[in-house]
Amino acid sequence: MTAIEVDGVGKSYTGRKKRTDALSGVRLSVPSGGFVSLLGPSGCGKTTLLKCMDGLIPVTEGEIRVGGAPITGPGRDRAFVFQDFRLLPWRTVLGNVTFPLEGTVSSRAEREEIARRHIEMVGLAGFERHHPHELSGGMQQRVGIARALAVDPDILLMDEPFGALDAQTRELMQIELLRIWELTGKTVVFVTHSVDEAIFLSQRIAVFSARPGTVAAEFEVPFAYP
Ligand code: ADP
Ligand code: ADP
Repeated sequence: MTAIEVDGVGKSYTGRKKRTDALSGVRLSVPSGGFVSLLGPSGCGKTTLLKCMDGLIPVTEGEIRVGGAPITGPGRDRAFVFQDFRLLPWRTVLGNVTFPLEGTVSSRAEREEIARRHIEMVGLAGFERHHPHELSGGMQQRVGIARALAVDPDILLMDEPFGALDAQTRELMQIELLRIWELTGKTVVFVTHSVDEAIFLSQRIAVFSARPGTVAAEFEVPFAYP
């Protein structure tokens, strides 16, 4: 089963004076339940492709299909995890994780039950009443992951989620992510510029070349987890 199909995608940003061709002719297929990394240097279009997959920005050319259907915008089948966490500072951990459920789950008790379950899954049980500024970077990203998982998406789109963390925390979070991936069976698309990180985490790596970004090579990681 294929979760995401990227079919001849091009993306140009057009400003008033300047046009940037960020992606051209990208083809990529992400298997259901797979862990695929988009690897390449800064500026090669990885984040752009991830945002297109989420429907946060439109493609200029080609098509992205999720579960066989062309996407038209963000959907509850996908959730995004940001490098800079993007938590709501005035809300508690619990409030951050219940936030995306507010449109769909009418019962507050039910929202909190779902949130607590995911807060526990990422190892933050006991921190429900804390605010983001009281937490370390690694803990804040755990909240980011819990918030993404809470809506029960099929697909997690992760944009250098551990890029802002120190090396030791990053390693810990990588192991945690693999545990969660195995536990939940989610499809993961993971953006990174670290070869080590891509090899450690993924089953499959799409290597980007720049200007305009395209998938230059794609390979299976021979000894992938689990
Ligand atoms: P990566 O994630 O690989 O670092 P990006 O997708 O962020 O690459 O960027 C790809 C190219 O598109 C870069 O040249 C970047 O400057 C440009 N770009 C990204 N976002 C925008 C934007 N909102 N407006 C104009 N240019 C952009
Ligand atoms: P990342 O670290 O994920 O590669 P960047 O730091 O390059 O992201 O970009 C941060 C934000 O700025 C993104 O939302 C990106 O789309 C936007 N951006 C990047 N390059 C440009 C650009 N040349 N013009 C306008 N916005 C840009």
